[in-house]
Amino acid sequence: MAESVAAFMDMIKAKNPAEPEFHQAVLEVAESLWPVLEKRPEYRKAKILDRICEPERVIMFRVPWVDDKGEVQVNRGFRIEMNSALGPYKGGLRLHPSVNLGILKFLAFEQVFKNSLTTLPMGGGKGGSDFDPKGKSDNEVMSFCQSFMLELFRHIGPNTDVPAGDIGVGGREIGYLFGMYKKIKNEFTGILTGKGRNWGGSLIRPEATGYGAVYFAAEMLNTRGETLKGKTCLVSGGGNVAQYTTEKLLDLGGKVVTLSDSGGYIYDEEGVDREKLAFLMDLKNVRRGRIKEYAEKYPKAVFTPTDKSLDHNPLWNHKADCAFPSATQNEINVKDAQNLVNNGVYVISEGANMPTVPKGVEIFIDKGILYGPGKAANAGGVSVSGLEMSQNSLRLSWTREEVDQRLQGIMKAIHKAAYETAEEFGTPGNYVNGANIAGFLKVADTMLDMGSVG
Ligand code: NDP
Repeated sequence: MAESVAAFMDMIKAKNPAEPEFHQAVLEVAESLWPVLEKRPEYRKAKILDRICEPERVIMFRVPWVDDKGEVQVNRGFRIEMNSALGPYKGGLRLHPSVNLGILKFLAFEQVFKNSLTTLPMGGGKGGSDFDPKGKSDNEVMSFCQSFMLELFRHIGPNTDVPAGDIGVGGREIGYLFGMYKKIKNEFTGILTGKGRNWGGSLIRPEATGYGAVYFAAEMLNTRGETLKGKTCLVSGGGNVAQYTTEKLLDLGGKVVTLSDSGGYIYDEEGVDREKLAFLMDLKNVRRGRIKEYAEKYPKAVFTPTDKSLDHNPLWNHKADCAFPSATQNEINVKDAQNLVNNGVYVISEGANMPTVPKGVEIFIDKGILYGPGKAANAGGVSVSGLEMSQNSLRLSWTREEVDQRLQGIMKAIHKAAYETAEEFGTPGNYVNGANIAGFLKVADTMLDMGSVG
């Protein structure tokens, strides 16, 4: 085991070259854990952190498919089976042109700690492809998904590895993937979560990540005797997480003034109401259109196109109380973090995975604002995926109320674990340390129990 975080990171970088997002995720965790490792020599002796940073298995494969013009296309598929100490590998599939090995390793690494925090028996994994679903016909998306599953089926199973959705993978894609698996294996089992209601899906799974991020924010506010009622909120993204974050904020009396996609963002000073949210959901989930159309439909909202030459994202430069980054990694840079704080934002609950750059996180922590990192705040999605697995095993389905209550209970438990662990290890209010340490301890102790092969 290395003597310092810097030496440890040198080793990680040498072993995993050209994977900056993976290095970023590991560094944050290593910094949180170092004081723990210094106090607990058994973890160092068993090289637990070195083992956690090495995936148990990486599967990388060719995904050939035929487009609507009859031309053959070739994409690259991945599944990172990171850690199975606590249960079957669990984590989403991402379809986006930016997908590469390093991005999926960072996501799989984060997933291990997140899943540990959920209190449910799940290991960590992640997968996906550089396939871009944008602008593709349903037929092309189906053709890709079927080819992807033609390889993936060998590696997954209800007790082995159970993928779900992530960026670019929603109900449509899960349906095509599940259909192909069932055809190949002649078997109807819960090998994916986020399934349709008629074929084993859980109520509240589509809503879970967004709802969970809002429940987490509510828990953080509760530590200061406050609620979300009347709070102005900045939300980024316009997909699954952003939509249900907006819905739950409306339920709890918050006001959402921004939404975005990769083409730009809208600022709606009057707030996104239920009718506007229904428009957004139809626009994004059915018509698969662009956020710009929101401002065409509601002219009081202002659309600002993405300008890559700017050193900041203007979405984060509005007066508000809360921010819910719900698009993608590193979407809040240092300037954005500064702008958020300067504009009065004091609650940040991350729906996306690692949306804030490390120096931005430092700003939030130094300012003492309520900052809920993704691996705690967005764990609602995988939690309800875990509940979907339980329902599939029981061959039962629970009511909406029952699943929502369990989700709320889990988000409360995650908040409590992160809050209390931060305090116990001498950094009160630091949810980053709290989540990293609490997530780690359970996995580490289990790995010790299971001996040196894991
Ligand atoms: P969706 O594909 O439904 O939506 C993603 C949204 O983010 C879209 O509006 C998309 O815009 C935008 N976006 C994606 N990549 C970029 C980019 N590189 N630059 C700018 N905008 C971008 O995905 P989800 O809502 O499911 O996921 C959003 C985030 O939440 C991700 O970080 C994901 O890992 C995380 N997450 C998701 C969970 C889930 O259950 N779905 C669970 C936990 C975390 P466009 O359409 O133009 O690309």
